[in-house]
Amino acid sequence: MRAYDIIKKKRDGFALTREELTSFLSGYLKEKIPDYQVSAFLMAVLLKGLNSEETSYLTEIMLNSGAILDLSNIKGPKVDKHSTGGVGDKVSLILTPLVASAGVVVPMMSGRGLGHTGGTLDKLESIPGFKTSLGMEEFKKVLSKVGCAMIGFSKEMAPLDRKLYTLRDVTATVESIPLITGSIMSKKLSEGIQGLVLDIKAGSGAFMKDLASARELAKSMVDIGNSFGVKTIAAITDMNEPLGLAVGNSLEVLETIDALKGKGPDDVMEVTFFLGALMLKVAGIEKDTEAGKEKLKQLIANGSALEKFKEMIQQQGGNPNVVERTGLLPLSGLSEDVVSQHKGYIQSMDGEAVGKASMILGAGRETMDSTIDPSVGILLKKKVGDYVKKNDVLCTLCTSDEGVIKKAEDVFLNALTIGEAHPENRRLIKEIIE
Ligand code: URA
Repeated sequence: MRAYDIIKKKRDGFALTREELTSFLSGYLKEKIPDYQVSAFLMAVLLKGLNSEETSYLTEIMLNSGAILDLSNIKGPKVDKHSTGGVGDKVSLILTPLVASAGVVVPMMSGRGLGHTGGTLDKLESIPGFKTSLGMEEFKKVLSKVGCAMIGFSKEMAPLDRKLYTLRDVTATVESIPLITGSIMSKKLSEGIQGLVLDIKAGSGAFMKDLASARELAKSMVDIGNSFGVKTIAAITDMNEPLGLAVGNSLEVLETIDALKGKGPDDVMEVTFFLGALMLKVAGIEKDTEAGKEKLKQLIANGSALEKFKEMIQQQGGNPNVVERTGLLPLSGLSEDVVSQHKGYIQSMDGEAVGKASMILGAGRETMDSTIDPSVGILLKKKVGDYVKKNDVLCTLCTSDEGVIKKAEDVFLNALTIGEAHPENRRLIKEIIE
């Protein structure tokens, strides 16, 4: 079938066969089909969708377009976690060494931040010397020595996804559940894992703004994971306000260190312990999530998780002394408090707007090529549900550029609603999809 006919078939709402998808997508990978035809195809998929079989074929084709890691020589259950991304979401940084200290091998590969959301790699790179691009043999070496390693997605894995994602990014076709499913799951499945826990964020600071679309994405990803033989569980968690108090790269590493020392903010720890307990369950280490959470709390209390974090930093070329001497992290020279202009309860805090304020300060990138400043960001002093008086400090803006403070302050203040009534308590863990 010609590329034209495949595009037309999808445009008209018909399901494509495995052979059709394979010929079209492998033709694209081999540069036999041009970007403009693939762009039209992606738009047809966004508008007409893919059924579960087509989504599975798409994932399989992307997965088989590159290498699949073989971790069979490393002892222990291999389980990873993936978050769809949010604001202030440093859970991967805490969870990876924590769960590894419970005996799970965590081969975490992740991405950079784009737009208002932060990226795990950017956060890790604020640790002096930390290398996020290891060759596959080196990655395996760190995994066998430490039990965890955190790097960027390797170029060798799912190259078709990289090509398609670049095109989706400029053709307004990112927001398609089957395309997101195929993209994320092909990369995660190529890690050679037996289990996967997905954190699907829902709310103002997330990709999926409402519970219904988060649920649809979670179901699609869980189905694909399980059908490829990887035990997959998803939790839908709240992202209506930033997670924790720190937003920005080195600031989030500081909060990670606090968390591993047992001093993490309650919301960060609730999500971390919950997802960690799911990872232990998927790994077959702990059947019951309550028992899993207790185990993880002990590993923080006895210092094992912090020690694992230091080992991982050292093995990946970073300076492990940052854990004791946090002054080794890049920290911005300028800071400015933002004060409340009203009194009342903070009723809501738009996560996306806080992420944008942090981006204005230099912590995030507008396009994949923008550079970021690892030292800047926002330290929240109040969160939803807190009562504030006029002139109480709401947050501290940390930056290296005085010229951006006013704009960031305006965006931050617009993110808040302050009123008389106490807001309802939010439920952080909204649903589990197995
Ligand atoms: N992250 C990915 O890796 N792929 C998507 O499609 C969306 C987010």
